[in-house]
Amino acid sequence: MRVSRCFLPVMKESPADAQIVSHKLMLRAGLVRQTAAGIYAWLPVGWRVLQKIEQIVREEQDKAGSVELLMPTLQSADLWRQSGRYDAYGPEMLRIKDRHEREILYGPTNEEMITALFRDEVRSYRELPRTLYHIQWKFRDEVRPRFGVMRGREFLMKDAYSFDLDEGGARNSYYTQLLAYLRTFQRLGIKAVPMKAASGPIGGDLSHEFIVLAPTGESEVFYDAAFEEFDWSQADLRYDDADGLKALFDQVSSTYSATDETHDEARWAGVAADRQRTGRGIEVGHIFYFGTKYSASMGLKVSGPDGSMVTPEMGSYGIGVSRLVGAIIEASHDDAGIVWPEAVAPWKVGMVTMRGDDPATVAAADDLYAKLSAANVETLYDDRDERGGVKLGSMDLIGLPWQLVLGPRGVAAGTAELKNRRTGEKQELSLESALARFTA
Ligand code: ATP
Ligand code: MG
Repeated sequence: MRVSRCFLPVMKESPADAQIVSHKLMLRAGLVRQTAAGIYAWLPVGWRVLQKIEQIVREEQDKAGSVELLMPTLQSADLWRQSGRYDAYGPEMLRIKDRHEREILYGPTNEEMITALFRDEVRSYRELPRTLYHIQWKFRDEVRPRFGVMRGREFLMKDAYSFDLDEGGARNSYYTQLLAYLRTFQRLGIKAVPMKAASGPIGGDLSHEFIVLAPTGESEVFYDAAFEEFDWSQADLRYDDADGLKALFDQVSSTYSATDETHDEARWAGVAADRQRTGRGIEVGHIFYFGTKYSASMGLKVSGPDGSMVTPEMGSYGIGVSRLVGAIIEASHDDAGIVWPEAVAPWKVGMVTMRGDDPATVAAADDLYAKLSAANVETLYDDRDERGGVKLGSMDLIGLPWQLVLGPRGVAAGTAELKNRRTGEKQELSLESALARFTA
């Protein structure tokens, strides 16, 4: 992408209305713009990051055996009356009337809709277990939308729903998602600690939140340092290994971690003082096992192996995809700007010409850009006729993992400078090796 053709409004100064670093950086680096309270337009840079996160979440769900579909954002009030949540949900639900005075709502979550879809199609235990998910916009009319996309009103969520024949199966589905979440967050380049949680309005008795540590987080957290040493990928563990999944769950459960809601001073005192970690954190995911709460109230039944009718056990599993953009920035930035983990960076390489008015520099940069693009190396090429220092400043702010800087002197000698954004390490290399570095 050439900066001269992109839509990349970079701001030099920190916007006064942004309180936390990720919100400031998302505005300054041109990722989003607020269009109404808690509602954001995703500009090209932000949209690319959002899609990268979404794709990693999707791939890890697919590997875990979940099946993707897409449910609409608008739902009928009648659907929610079936579970009794239409009246219970409160003012966070955006209620709308259509031209025929029919009550609809902008979905804050999808338990009712998925339960109804499943109920209307599935008849037999043979079609269980299933975990279905979608990645879709939600609306919650938060009292105090703040911190940019971190607590928006409209936000993107991955929500998965599991259906099992019995509690054992449902717990296995829950453990499966637990592992999928650990793997997802690891791939995203962040550490998210699973913490026992209260289950809130969704109901049920087994629930974990996944918390990214950041000083600006909304919840207070307590955990054993062991979580920092955990092998999050659990590389040897397969999703069809039920005992292994259970062992993972036991390991997570027996290692102390809690938010202020579930914190237990007596158990906490059992953690060695030098292993106690406290701080603040951002909830990026939340999983629930809630049994037959929705299946029973909405009349979902399947015929069991012995012919009797069985009410399936369910769970639901959310990841805040758009919140993650902010959370990743909270966890990965420096004074100069964002430092993207490679897996979610909007582009891999940022190319800058120090003199946009020098024909030899421009010719060399155009050529290198063409070759990188031909090799599908995601490159943002700042080809504007701007001062070199300004362009370098914006590149640091945007935070791509690698920068390639071409100036008249280097180009005359056939070289470019390669900078690692995270470490700041710089290296002079030939234009050919610069290309080979990313295409080999
Ligand atoms: P919170 O406690 O932060 O209000 P929640 O517990 O109501 O969130 P869930 O219903 O568990 O949220 O939704 C799943 C995920 O969706 C959360 O873990 C979070 O990452 C994300 N999320 C929830 N509310 C918002 C919001 N207002 N803006 C952005 N992301 C959100
Ligand atoms: Mg939650």
